[in-house]
Amino acid sequence: THPEFQAAIPILQKIEAAGFEAYFVGGCVRDALLGLPIHDVDIATSAYPQEVKAIFRRTVDTGIQHGTVMVLDHGTGYEVTTFRTESTYQDFRRPDAVTFVRSLKEDQLRRDFTINALAARHDGLIIDNFNGLADLDAHLLRAVGNAQDRFHEDALRMMRAVRFESQLGFTLEAATAQALADNASLLQHIAVERIATEFTRLLLGINRAAGLSSMLQAGLYTYCPLLVGHKAELSRLQALDSRQIKHEDVAWTLLTAVLGVKPVAFMKAWKQPNDLTGTVDHAVKLLPALLTGTADNLALFNAGAASVSAAIGAASYLQPGFAAAAWQARYQALPMHTAKDLALTGQMLLDAGMQPGPQLGRALAQARTAVISGQLPNDAAALLAAVK
Ligand code: ATP
Ligand code: MG
Repeated sequence: THPEFQAAIPILQKIEAAGFEAYFVGGCVRDALLGLPIHDVDIATSAYPQEVKAIFRRTVDTGIQHGTVMVLDHGTGYEVTTFRTESTYQDFRRPDAVTFVRSLKEDQLRRDFTINALAARHDGLIIDNFNGLADLDAHLLRAVGNAQDRFHEDALRMMRAVRFESQLGFTLEAATAQALADNASLLQHIAVERIATEFTRLLLGINRAAGLSSMLQAGLYTYCPLLVGHKAELSRLQALDSRQIKHEDVAWTLLTAVLGVKPVAFMKAWKQPNDLTGTVDHAVKLLPALLTGTADNLALFNAGAASVSAAIGAASYLQPGFAAAAWQARYQALPMHTAKDLALTGQMLLDAGMQPGPQLGRALAQARTAVISGQLPNDAAALLAAVK
């Protein structure tokens, strides 16, 4: 019923016509059955990568060593991945080498949770070898096969478990929850970037409290950067206003503020990008003044648009009834939002006979402060007169 599937059906049919099996697999099947929007359509097939390439006119080798070929069709790219097993796991991480197989069931067997191990044929028939449909109905996250073994094979699956708990609002099935508690320490073998990706999605999910609660209960947080020793703060975060957070700027600002840690060092430990780190840093600095209602024009201007939004967002979780809309309006109404909005320029000062040098820069800075705080209008003539 989703148009994304409709458009891709001819791809499956073409592979079948060539004598192979092909299915929609993974998150797109799960999300479609849950009535959620789907992002990308993943296709799995019994055809080997070279066989896939022989079927379609235009393909790109996006991940051929993992068995993935991108098929280009009317401007859309579809990832077509050969059924595979991941038999040789080392160091609790996903293996680099994979073995291609011809059996769908073996491919489903290597997937993390039963709800992620569903396959759909072009005609809509669901191939459910591990009772994923029942778990979808029951809103349960259950490891495919033995949960202890699965988390041993790939410890990232534990972060995926708590991420899906939050993203989907599902519950961990008992043996899966137990395996999480038993194997939490294996998370130390996983790259920070990969942990961070799942953690961000947890923070942005519809049931953040459930995901955080499992991280606390299982002790997973202990193996995340700079979270050890912060159980009380994380519990506080869990107990805040349960509205879904829509922006990662807000999520990381709120997290950093509740933990009471230094933003730059914290974000660096989590290997977050510099622009996000900068936004969070300025947002956390602005936050106390927002919460006490004392933030002035200059503080808002200095924080900048992204940090003002992030701080307002975070404040609305920290303080029930926080006047988010009023603060956003106040920021919008500032006479200027970036330095280049100032009506006075250095050239105007030179033309007016001012000598080049540090006093020119100081004059511009003073004019800027006066405009932002509302003492002078942002008008070239008025500013020039005031500077003189
Ligand atoms: P979303 O698209 O919302 O992130 P997803 O389930 O599609 O969810 P992906 O990371 O895109 O997540 O992975 C696609 C599929 O690949 C999953 O549904 C699952 O079947 C399988 N998979 C992904 N990562 C793992 C893993 N670490 N261990 C086992 N199977 C995995
Ligand atoms: Mg996906």
